Amino acid sequence: MTFSDYDPELTRSLNAELRRQREGLEMIPSENFVSPAVLEALGSVATNKYAEGYSGKRYYGGCEFIDEIEGLAISRAKQLFGAEHVNVQPLSGAPANIAAYSAILKPGDTILGMDLSHGGHLTHGHPVTFVAGIYNFVRYKTAADGTLDYDNLRAMALEHRPKLILVGYSAYSREIDYAKVKAIADEVGALTMADIAHIAGLIAGGEMANPVPLFDVVTTTTHKTLRGPRGGMILCKEAFAKAIDKAVFPGLQGGPHENAIAAMAVAFKEALEPAFRDYARQIRLNAKVLETEFRAFGYTLCFGGTDNHLLLVDVMGSKGVTGRDAQEALDKAGITVNKNAIPDDARSPTDPSGIRFGTPAVTTRGMKEAEMKLIAGWMNDAIVNATDDAKLASIAAEIKNLTDRFPLYPGLAY
Ligand SMILES: *Cc1c(COP(=O)(O)O)cnc(C)c1O
Repeated sequence: MTFSDYDPELTRSLNAELRRQREGLEMIPSENFVSPAVLEALGSVATNKYAEGYSGKRYYGGCEFIDEIEGLAISRAKQLFGAEHVNVQPLSGAPANIAAYSAILKPGDTILGMDLSHGGHLTHGHPVTFVAGIYNFVRYKTAADGTLDYDNLRAMALEHRPKLILVGYSAYSREIDYAKVKAIADEVGALTMADIAHIAGLIAGGEMANPVPLFDVVTTTTHKTLRGPRGGMILCKEAFAKAIDKAVFPGLQGGPHENAIAAMAVAFKEALEPAFRDYARQIRLNAKVLETEFRAFGYTLCFGGTDNHLLLVDVMGSKGVTGRDAQEALDKAGITVNKNAIPDDARSPTDPSGIRFGTPAVTTRGMKEAEMKLIAGWMNDAIVNATDDAKLASIAAEIKNLTDRFPLYPGLAY
């Protein structure tokens, strides 16, 4: 019996999701399209195996091939980032961060992390999270010109004497000077951690600076620009290897998802190919076109523009349209973005002033500068005509024509 015969309800939903991905423009900067090979590894028999523990010291029998699979993922990740030690078992980015904190800190320790509205992630100490009650998070911000305010970071480090200085963001669009951060951390005796969840693929592709050789601990997701399965990973200096491994298992998790780890091995092999460097370069070139076009349309670009794959745009201040209304209008037009707070946003997180969007997924589809110009035009049209449903429908039709020319998973159907 085929899958679709057995479960027609689920098949309908999966095919609808596949159609949505094919016909729309995926501009959420944390999303991407994995290769068919990664999809195949994710759906492999590796999902059947319990493998608590680490290679050579598992708590279950029958792990000899799982050890090989996990070993491949680890050695490729080491090669990709020049890491001394890698743990590929974190189930996603948030648990990777929690495990990293628990490995190197004690409850009550102070962490200097970036303010959420300036681009930081929830797991970097937002009051709604569990970790905010365990560690003492102190927040730094970006300077008026959009760069990290290293002078302020140093002043705050001297004042608060953190155990850990944390960089790496979800909505920040500029490069980070890791050497400056490391020098500040050394001055106050703090450890350094970079969360490269968003930009791991750009680092692997040689397009952005790599903190791994310099920082004590680096965490990442594997499913954003790195274009692997949903998952998390911790890269660290040998000195922290034991503590990190213990914190992931048995500290925080049980059995690792070995099908995801197999898919990571595939994704890392792909990221080691020369073609991935071209991909990473095109992500940035495409983001630069969006920057230029949006500036020309009169939008305020947070942080003054982009060095990476994403833009954070103040739609409220620029066009009098809220982030939520812009996101809804763009959805109707077939463009998926997310509403997002801008630095020190006066509006609420449920209807903030900004939208965040980026180029990893459309670049995977093969779109280049010419398509980015079209997309920027449609996005502006949708935002300034946010209440004109006929206009939004006509944009959606044009986008369907465009996406038809960039096939996604040709031949796939559930
Ligand atoms: C996406 C992200 C995470 C969390 O990853 P999940 O896989 O959603 O748990 C953590 N940190 C940063 C900076 C991120 O952008």
